Amino acid sequence: MKSLPSASELQALVDNTYQQFHALPGGENASYIPYLASVPSDLAALVIVTATGDIFQAGDCEYSFAIESISKVATLALLMEDVGPETVREKIGAEPTGLPFNSVLALCEHQDKPLSPLVNAGAMASVSLLKADSPEERWQRILDMQRRITTGKLTLSEEINQSEQTTNFHNRGIAWLLYAAGNCFCDPMEACEVYTRQCSTLVTCRDLAVMAATLANLGENPVSGEQVMSAENVAPLLAEMTMEGLYDYSGDWAFEVGLPGKSGVGGGLLAVAPGKLGIAAFSPPLDESGNSVRGQRMIAEVAKALNLNIYR
Ligand code: GLU
Repeated sequence: MKSLPSASELQALVDNTYQQFHALPGGENASYIPYLASVPSDLAALVIVTATGDIFQAGDCEYSFAIESISKVATLALLMEDVGPETVREKIGAEPTGLPFNSVLALCEHQDKPLSPLVNAGAMASVSLLKADSPEERWQRILDMQRRITTGKLTLSEEINQSEQTTNFHNRGIAWLLYAAGNCFCDPMEACEVYTRQCSTLVTCRDLAVMAATLANLGENPVSGEQVMSAENVAPLLAEMTMEGLYDYSGDWAFEVGLPGKSGVGGGLLAVAPGKLGIAAFSPPLDESGNSVRGQRMIAEVAKALNLNIYR
């Protein structure tokens, strides 16, 4: 394997890429969650964390934003620890839906089986399948994993949580459909409520890059040194990310960039270069699929410059 460029070269790459693309036009903040519509659209950040824990960053990397769908990665990591990847595959799935992240049609077409733990239906099913005796335990276990897979300081935003819990009617409908088909493994409103909380924690772009670097480093967080998930669960987790990490753009992303990734409607996006590094970007304006416009471009440029495409 070719080694990475020097630290100064990596920092220059991050600085130049950020400078070139942090103000790229296009896209709009998500507006179906009131809080997200109010986040300043000109924020942007780009961070690389290597598998050995070196950090290179530019832009608004200390700004805290809603983790949203990227929380699904931490919950899936935890679920794989609880029940193993094969059970995840059997009960939830490992296929792309080819449809938007909250699609009811995707459920209807497959006997209400979610297909992917990285869309809303599959994420609520994942929450419901975690080992927990109470809603509070379910939530605390997820928050604990979010902290261990990043840098340990994540907190729930009461403001975001309130904004989402009072508007998440569509997700509640999905949870009931899952339950009716036997694909929700706890009370469906508990699954939806805890899932909504997991989307409402605050992260920085650096937190997301540490999460990506942890996956690049076979489940050992390169900043804390903690093994946060089994090394053997990383490959199936990355496979799930390849299939559905960027919603219905995942195939194009694999084609263009060639790295497992995960985005969230808060404007965060991360990508994993196994054995090498994690990259994360943040900027709120989203394209039609729900992926950060600037985030995709910045990560694609870094991946190209470092020749990271795993299919090459
Ligand atoms: N909380 C959001 C929802 O469930 C997350 C969606 C996302 O980031 O894809 O609708």
